[in-house]
Amino acid sequence: MSNLYQYSVEERFLRYVQIDTQSDPFSESFPSTEKQKDLGRLLVEELLDLGLADAHMDDNGYVYATISSNTEREVPVICFCAHMDTSPDVSGTGVKPLVHRNYDGGDIVLPDDHQQVIRLNEHPYLQQKIGDDIITASGLTLLGADDKAGVAVIMDFAKILQAHPEIKHGAIRILFTPDEEVGRGVDKLDMQQLGASIGYTLDAGEAGSLEDENFSADSMTVSFNGVPAHPGSAKGKLVNALKVAAAFVHALPGESLAPEFTEGREGFVHPVHMTGTAEKASVQFILRDFDTAKLGEYAYMLQHLADEVVKSFPGATCSYTVKEQYRNMKEVLVNHPGIVRYAEEAILRAGGTVRRHPIRGGTDGARLSFMGLPCPNLFTGEMALHSKHEYVSVQDMQLSVHTLLELVQLWEKGE
Ligand SMILES: [Zn+2]
Repeated sequence: MSNLYQYSVEERFLRYVQIDTQSDPFSESFPSTEKQKDLGRLLVEELLDLGLADAHMDDNGYVYATISSNTEREVPVICFCAHMDTSPDVSGTGVKPLVHRNYDGGDIVLPDDHQQVIRLNEHPYLQQKIGDDIITASGLTLLGADDKAGVAVIMDFAKILQAHPEIKHGAIRILFTPDEEVGRGVDKLDMQQLGASIGYTLDAGEAGSLEDENFSADSMTVSFNGVPAHPGSAKGKLVNALKVAAAFVHALPGESLAPEFTEGREGFVHPVHMTGTAEKASVQFILRDFDTAKLGEYAYMLQHLADEVVKSFPGATCSYTVKEQYRNMKEVLVNHPGIVRYAEEAILRAGGTVRRHPIRGGTDGARLSFMGLPCPNLFTGEMALHSKHEYVSVQDMQLSVHTLLELVQLWEKGE
């Protein structure tokens, strides 16, 4: 199947990863690092060369471009989105991508630091990639497949559509964003300018992956007030808020409802920060579940627990605040069943196997979904993210391009 098209995704990927686009969580500017625009400028140039005449980058570093419709039919405008920045966790300076042709199933020793070995037993997915061409970094940096694999896939897809006018499709909006890794990827996005009604982010891993569910998330602060008194004459009077807070944390459910005891679809409450003095102390939590209604139950449980603990410290009081963080995109996507159904069908038509798993975290796609652009996440092949062991299979990236080509044709036919 992969011989149907002349793929350029490998060659593009190898060039894009050599441009340093690391974002910076401590920066207050937008984008967080100017160097992200180096890749943005190159992409604009290449999009213009492909004939996408409106391709441009705005001041905030977002790249927009349109592939015009070539059909008479009414088709919703589809946005394909990937992020240009790489993780602040590992250096992205001087990335040297290496192609391991016809991967033989052995451990991959990275040449610039022999301590860095991508081991088959730690990366079982590689077992399924024997015979593929695997791209890695050289041992000193991350690779940046997250998310330059997504960028390269969308660029190749655009090139192939431009070269194959017989492939019928509606209008397509291409979007490349900065600063996804520091959680600000959609902060300055101009939805009006984007003008799309549905979207797909290209930022998931294993071939065939389709992610349409993520955690719903709240934060909660539980505060305790003690009873202050001079320690020299405190007998029978002082109630220490730190001890109340410690008793509360100690009373949390053991061996359940915590990140260290849950997986898959299980939710949790997780204390992440504690501050205080003898007079006043507080504990911050994050609450997570795929079912948003459960977050209210978790908050109620913590509140009840705090009330109970305070009873054994006469004079102490407690109070709570809950803040919404983000929501499960499924709540939006259920109202647009075609978005996921066509994606599944496209993966199959491209020759892949559909893999569905819920994301135990938030994504830009989830935020976009609640900003009016329902937006699940599709695979690119990127694996072992945010590490020096990051890798991607060329054949997975090609399958991703092929999937997008099938996907736009399904939307055009509207079956
Ligand atoms: Zn990513």
